[in-house]
Amino acid sequence: MDIEDIQSQRDYYEHCRQVHHYSPAINKILNLSESYIPDAEKAYKEGKTKAIWSGGVGWQVPLIYACDTIPVAYGEMGRLSDKEAMQIAEDYYQFPVETCSMVKCTVGQWHLRRNTSTINRILGNSSACEPYNLAWEIMKREGYDVYNNDVVYRGPTVEGKRLEKLIQFLVDEIYDVAEWLTGSRKIDEDKLIREIQRKNRLLNKLKTVLELRRKHPFYVRSLATIVMLNIGLNNYFGKPEEYEAAIDLLIEELENKPVDEKELKKVIPLVWAGGTGQEFGIYEAIDQAGGALLGLRSVPFKLYREDVPPVESLARWVYDNAGAGAGVYARNVLEHEVDKLNARGLILYGYIGCSFASVDREMWRKYFHAKGIPSINLEGSFQTGAPTGQVITRVKAFVEMLS
Ligand code: SF4
Repeated sequence: MDIEDIQSQRDYYEHCRQVHHYSPAINKILNLSESYIPDAEKAYKEGKTKAIWSGGVGWQVPLIYACDTIPVAYGEMGRLSDKEAMQIAEDYYQFPVETCSMVKCTVGQWHLRRNTSTINRILGNSSACEPYNLAWEIMKREGYDVYNNDVVYRGPTVEGKRLEKLIQFLVDEIYDVAEWLTGSRKIDEDKLIREIQRKNRLLNKLKTVLELRRKHPFYVRSLATIVMLNIGLNNYFGKPEEYEAAIDLLIEELENKPVDEKELKKVIPLVWAGGTGQEFGIYEAIDQAGGALLGLRSVPFKLYREDVPPVESLARWVYDNAGAGAGVYARNVLEHEVDKLNARGLILYGYIGCSFASVDREMWRKYFHAKGIPSINLEGSFQTGAPTGQVITRVKAFVEMLS
């Protein structure tokens, strides 16, 4: 499939498979991503597994797997959406047109599934955002079983006793979520320890992949990078063993590939900061202009502690990582990535209608500008189809300027 023929996100996947024809590992990762939601819904309907919709990041995922349930990332439904899903949110539920398109797509998809035999439980997270809080309230009325944990937020100066109090608060919240998931506050600690070990093992393996990519910057192109790290590393596409096997294979492929010095001379290392939307054409524009996304803000780098009880380990990881709340924690991750990779530029991306992320992006833009790191600040949408030509032109011009 040629790039000009692409009409939908599925087409981008097909194109991405062709681009990576040399890599069985990347093809496996793309297949796992594409089949994630349909396979989880099918297994659930056939009674083979328990499954819930969830944001699917951070502490939730090891806990959900430890409760013998598959976390199905509702954000992934954007890829299955079209204008109809958005319109349901706007016309039927009266979401203002300027509401973030990620939320509208998700609402439209849940609407289409209500009163069917598919997954009917939603684990929200009140820290996420106001439009999603509204979406969850509405879905309760539509018959979904919805549970939201309370806000998780660590201010920039919170340390010592105040931090310990926050950790204890989140520990209690985690037990509440377990009760909602299983009907009991008892958590199988052995299972949770195994999930934490799995997460740490995969974090280390992905660190190896990222290191190897510095020698082979064009082996995993931008879309595949986002898919592998964003949903893959967070949720394992609902198939942990298969995901890990694909990562092992990718490490093998990268280790066996000879280094191409010419490639290393021409690469433009970039760091992606912000949400990773469904406008796959942006990733294509980066590739075409000679950029390589070698660092991402959303990739967790810190390991979960294995020297404390497992529930406490989940809570400590949240407050010790990029998702702690205040924008400075994510900025620290970005700075670490920029310095490590000698990145030439930063791509700041967010969704139209997301007020809090736009404030973060503006703060980061100023901070990195003062450090002499150029950035481009993009706003896009979550809907499917090709991105606007204007966004692509800006991305290409930015990357080419850095060359
Ligand atoms: S991009 Fe912003 S508004 Fe949209 S779902 Fe995320 S946090 Fe909410």
